[in-house]
Amino acid sequence: MTTGAAVPTFLLAATLAWSEPMPGSLDVHWNEGASDCSAVPQEALQVHQYEPQTFILRQNPCADFEANFIYLLIGSDKALLIDTGAVADPKAMPLAKTVLELLSDKNHKKLPLLVAHTHRHLDHRAGDPQFASLPSVQTVPFDLEGVRTFFGFTDWPSGIAQLDLGGRTVDVIPTPGHNETHLAFYDERTGILFSGDFLLAGRLLIEDAKAYHQSALRVVDFLKTRPLTHILGGHIELDATGHTYRFGSHYHPNEHRLELARADLTALPAAFERFNGFYARYPNYILTNPIRNIVALGIIAVALLVFIVWGIRRLIRRRRG
Ligand SMILES: [Zn+2]
Ligand SMILES: [Zn+2]
Repeated sequence: MTTGAAVPTFLLAATLAWSEPMPGSLDVHWNEGASDCSAVPQEALQVHQYEPQTFILRQNPCADFEANFIYLLIGSDKALLIDTGAVADPKAMPLAKTVLELLSDKNHKKLPLLVAHTHRHLDHRAGDPQFASLPSVQTVPFDLEGVRTFFGFTDWPSGIAQLDLGGRTVDVIPTPGHNETHLAFYDERTGILFSGDFLLAGRLLIEDAKAYHQSALRVVDFLKTRPLTHILGGHIELDATGHTYRFGSHYHPNEHRLELARADLTALPAAFERFNGFYARYPNYILTNPIRNIVALGIIAVALLVFIVWGIRRLIRRRRG
């Protein structure tokens, strides 16, 4: 009886078990930019090898305040570039040149490259034109219809698409909320979730709170049964003590670590359920609705103005009286 029961349990465990993620290193100090960029020469693009087939590229805060993180995932047949960053000019930001140098040759030809985006905000795709005329590079459209068609989503934002890079599968998960076109990428090789602006050490800028909440629930559910080593987003906007850098700052001293953990993700749905609609601070991210905050500020400003005008008119009437 004992033996008989042990066999199916073992088989079940073997079927459910995911292969161990490939370990990698995040032991790196990201370039922090400078308070005076013209005084301190800066390397535009920092390249960090996480493991032999995974590269993290960071745009220097001096090159653009958005200081985007860009990810290169290499399979045996194809490579995937997630985002092209905030800088278009190849002289200021040699992105395509750097990526091509990192790609190995296959049969004396460069490995084909697929350029995809976490979402259509310009700081995640400004570098696209650098890849436009290159042979064996395909770029995913950035508009919603193009994204849906390319990945074959028929019931957006439900469903998961898969990219086969050759011995390396990447799951593509719709995550609208910050932006309607947003995608997260889960790499089965490393167990990393590439989360773009959906989840990062910084401001989670909310465009559609309901969609964002639903996305958080779907990603939590998707990862429930899968190993998750790190969550790597598109920017770092906090310092190590959890304070934001001034918006637009080219200087990021004492940055918060890039990687977030599963606990940050699992806390996200509840954060949306408690959200007051304007602003909420958590240890590793801040929920904020910029449009709502501007509208609220506008209403307060108008109310103040009305009050001041009323006060002045009253004062004038009294004096006349
Ligand atoms: Zn964005
Ligand atoms: Zn962004």
